[in-house]
Amino acid sequence: MQVQNVYNSDEHSHGMKCSRCTGEAVYEAKYSGEMLCGKHLEESIEKRIKREIREQVDFNSDGIRISVAISGGKDSSVTLYALHELFKDRKDISLSAFTIDEGIKGYRDSGLENAGDLCRDLGIPHSIISFSQKFSTTMDEIVENNPDVIPCSRCGPMRRQLMNIESANLDADYVALGINLDDYSQSVLMNVARGDVDRMARMAPHHSKKDGLTRRILPLRRIPEKEVVLYALLKGIKFDSSWCPYYARAQRNTFRDILETLEERTPGSSFSILRFADGIRPALEASIPSVEMNKCRNCGQPTSREICPTCATST
Ligand code: SF4
Ligand SMILES: [Zn+2]
Ligand SMILES: [Zn+2]
Repeated sequence: MQVQNVYNSDEHSHGMKCSRCTGEAVYEAKYSGEMLCGKHLEESIEKRIKREIREQVDFNSDGIRISVAISGGKDSSVTLYALHELFKDRKDISLSAFTIDEGIKGYRDSGLENAGDLCRDLGIPHSIISFSQKFSTTMDEIVENNPDVIPCSRCGPMRRQLMNIESANLDADYVALGINLDDYSQSVLMNVARGDVDRMARMAPHHSKKDGLTRRILPLRRIPEKEVVLYALLKGIKFDSSWCPYYARAQRNTFRDILETLEERTPGSSFSILRFADGIRPALEASIPSVEMNKCRNCGQPTSREICPTCATST
């Protein structure tokens, strides 16, 4: 897909001038009412990414190691690229990347190839860690053996556990995830709809370290999904655009639809939801005692319960 195609698909920006220069607009940021040319869209995106990183990473400590969880898709590829651009000249900050292979035929294979290529191009060490190595099973097998399972509810905890294991192996202070604004505001809404106050208080980005868990950072938290795609196209970042075949069964889809409707009627709703979550965060953290981390009785991984969610669902 070319930038021009995206541009043409947006009838509002067609033939319009950038609000910041005389160039032709490629994008209408409905939430701010601005029309932006490629250069000013890039600038606006990079400014928001820098701001998030300044807020999420503690630059007072020396020797910062960041591992990036890269699937090969647009969000994680842009995250890795942006972090590399920002830190490539800093000797005190090192980047590494890893990919989790859940064992999903046809989907993960193409993502893996793309992730490997991007890391090679940027000169960033890349490792792969798989469900089959660690759990002796694959997502395809789990779904085949339990046709009624909601795949993401099994896959999510397993992925999080591998993410922690690999970040600890890489001795990382932070693990960066490619969560964009749409993903983030969906998660906030999901927590509200489920009444899950604890999870809301524990959402990334994490401002402090918990025993055995690597702090998660979300550099793209203020970048709408559409802008992530445009940024990748403008910068020539290759990404894999296949979708997980199990995604259609995800509960998250309902929240994606709700947010799309909200954004259509009131542009900027996703930013407002993020602001709301940030606004109540200090009060949540103050009122909810931080949970003591235990080691899972079965596998030894850090968990707030006796048995971690991965072991609890696999037994
Ligand atoms: S969409 Fe669900 S099943 Fe597929 S990789 Fe993501 S969490 Fe796993
Ligand atoms: Zn411009
Ligand atoms: Zn366990």
